[in-house]
Amino acid sequence: MKKAIEIKTGDITGEKVCAIVNAANSSLMGGGGVDGAIHRAGGHAILEECREIRERRYPDGLPTGEAVATTAGAMDASYVIHTVGPVYGSCGNACESLLASCYRNSLNVALELGCKDIAFPAISTGIYGYPKEEAACIAYRSVKQFLNQGHEITVYFVFHNDQDRTVFEESIRGLQGL
Ligand code: ADP
Repeated sequence: MKKAIEIKTGDITGEKVCAIVNAANSSLMGGGGVDGAIHRAGGHAILEECREIRERRYPDGLPTGEAVATTAGAMDASYVIHTVGPVYGSCGNACESLLASCYRNSLNVALELGCKDIAFPAISTGIYGYPKEEAACIAYRSVKQFLNQGHEITVYFVFHNDQDRTVFEESIRGLQGL
């Protein structure tokens, strides 16, 4: 049986899962880091859909913590779920719950799409500056809480390098009994 949570190192754009999550910015118009990699690998179709979502649903941009889906263009995944992580230091006490919302809302969107698996990058831990150890605990706890509600979906945490993966694994060690 597949484990409900898997931890991997690699480029998330190559994941063969139903949905990959993009650590987007509120403009949804692409950016650096994993966002840039996803738009490059998926091609123009993703940007076109993002433009439509902006026009129809979020003229002022996607709020932090929310999640929306597009197709995945040329990638193997079926969907990209775009979520906007908090910029560390810009949200005071709310940062933790905003980051948790990114995971929870992305998982809910994946379920609505009928996905049985989803891959997350380490949201907010790059350009947005969230301390990796703190972000790891929030990510793991949010996903665990969701899975504990009985939802059947396999969740991959995908790290760009082994060092980040190790930080994550060490940070969540105390939480694994959740
Ligand atoms: P944010 O703006 O939310 O901080 P970033 O894209 O800057 O988003 O970084 C989020 C995390 O994604 C970082 O840990 C970064 O190392 C990682 N990352 C960047 N590119 C990729 C990729 N292609 N696959 C998986 N993870 C990636």
